[in-house]
Amino acid sequence: MDKKVRVRFAPSPTGGLHLGGVRTALFNYLFAKKNNGTFVLRVEDTDQNRFVEGAEEYIVDCLNWCGITPDESPSKPGNYGPYRQSERKPSYRKFAEQLISDGYAYYAFDTTEELDAKRKEIPNFQYGQATRLQMRNSLTLTVSEVEDLLASKTPHVIRIKVPENEIVHFNDLIRGDVSFETAQVDDKVLLKADGMPTYHLAVVVDDKAMEISHAFRGEEWLPSAPIHILLWKYLGWESDMPQWAHLPLILKPDGHGKLSKRDGDRLGFPVYAMNWTDPKTGDITKGFNEMGFLPEAFVNMLALLGWNDGTDQELFALAELEEKFSIERISKAGAKFDFEKAKWYNHEWIKVQTAERLSPSVKEELKGAGIEIKDDVFLNIIIDLIKDRCTLMPDFVAQSGYFFTAPAEYDLASVKPKWTAEKADFFKVYAENINLTDAVIAETAFKALAEEKGFKPGELMLPFRIMLVGGKFGPGVFDIAILLGAEETKMRIEKAIAVFSS
Ligand code: GLU
Repeated sequence: MDKKVRVRFAPSPTGGLHLGGVRTALFNYLFAKKNNGTFVLRVEDTDQNRFVEGAEEYIVDCLNWCGITPDESPSKPGNYGPYRQSERKPSYRKFAEQLISDGYAYYAFDTTEELDAKRKEIPNFQYGQATRLQMRNSLTLTVSEVEDLLASKTPHVIRIKVPENEIVHFNDLIRGDVSFETAQVDDKVLLKADGMPTYHLAVVVDDKAMEISHAFRGEEWLPSAPIHILLWKYLGWESDMPQWAHLPLILKPDGHGKLSKRDGDRLGFPVYAMNWTDPKTGDITKGFNEMGFLPEAFVNMLALLGWNDGTDQELFALAELEEKFSIERISKAGAKFDFEKAKWYNHEWIKVQTAERLSPSVKEELKGAGIEIKDDVFLNIIIDLIKDRCTLMPDFVAQSGYFFTAPAEYDLASVKPKWTAEKADFFKVYAENINLTDAVIAETAFKALAEEKGFKPGELMLPFRIMLVGGKFGPGVFDIAILLGAEETKMRIEKAIAVFSS
């Protein structure tokens, strides 16, 4: 690669960060790491109407949570700042004007009313080659009329003049040769009446100024690509144009259409990386983080939405992705989002984490359930014992709560029908003589006593578990009993006998 690799994630701070956005960030990041490049965060905030307070900080938090922190960003500027487009405002107008003097753009003075009237008159109106000569712009007005309008500060925009009957080609690193007929492309606004550039102008000017070598972005930006290609050419920068890579869409679980936040609301899964609180309404939209996903699992799942390493391997740590990532293995086809699969990744990642890594989040979860942890060593033993049974972090509460508080309720339907006075006697005797020095010895003693009293040990194990846990789940019952200790186990047996026998 001749040019130094510089990539950018260029979100608009308009609200929560969709998992498709995080995947775009991730692929940019991975490509940068793989090629000793630089990963830039550029905040595209030129649309003041869509700007949402707090959205930029939120995006930064999401990237940090995922472990894909940018090398250059508004809070960590490099040599290409500022990193917010609103702060680069003075740099755009001259390029829009240069395009006008070179005949590639024009002033348009049409008012909102005039545009609305045209939209009524012409169905599916597009401001472009078919209509531009019916409008009020510097192509239809005389030079002196235009000068007067500009001198009197008449509100106006600058539009690109898309050429007629041309084919715009470019090579996409994922899709290969992509072409568009210019007849389908409208004369997009480049500079708005408030002097702010639109996304189209700003993205090209900034990619050039920031020496971006590769632009990874979602497939939804593909229709904008011809405008960008034309601008690169018209501004005389074609040789510096980044290489394009339009990432496949993330599809709804049924494969029909792009996954949206509404699908998440409808089907009960998160679409945002982290909880997003709408600053106006206070409404909270749940994120993967707060639903109990580990960032390791979230990132791994995202990487495999549209990429694989050519083998059947599915579990990748970020460091391994950094090493193995390649554009050649990104698929063209949309990737279906599957929440069950996302949970599978989380389960796999929980299983391989150390208790120390999981402990802070487990403590948070338990605290939320009113359980305050005082003994970290004890908690770590429990985490190791139950982590294989947890898919999402809140599962740790259900799976470990009984270690800290005796069950308040029992799965009586599973014990009562087979509960007898003889069984009650067995447990009374067992509780009196309980010895829990070691799980194997404890189990042997339990079975010996069961046989002596004429029971099959299997008939007694389930009631014993329900006495300690409350339900039919958890690790080995003697492991549980040992951790609870003889005194607590005895108390739980006695309490449960009373409930089961009533
Ligand atoms: N600001 C655009 C967005 O919100 C960036 C698209 C691009 O990467 O060119 O996704």
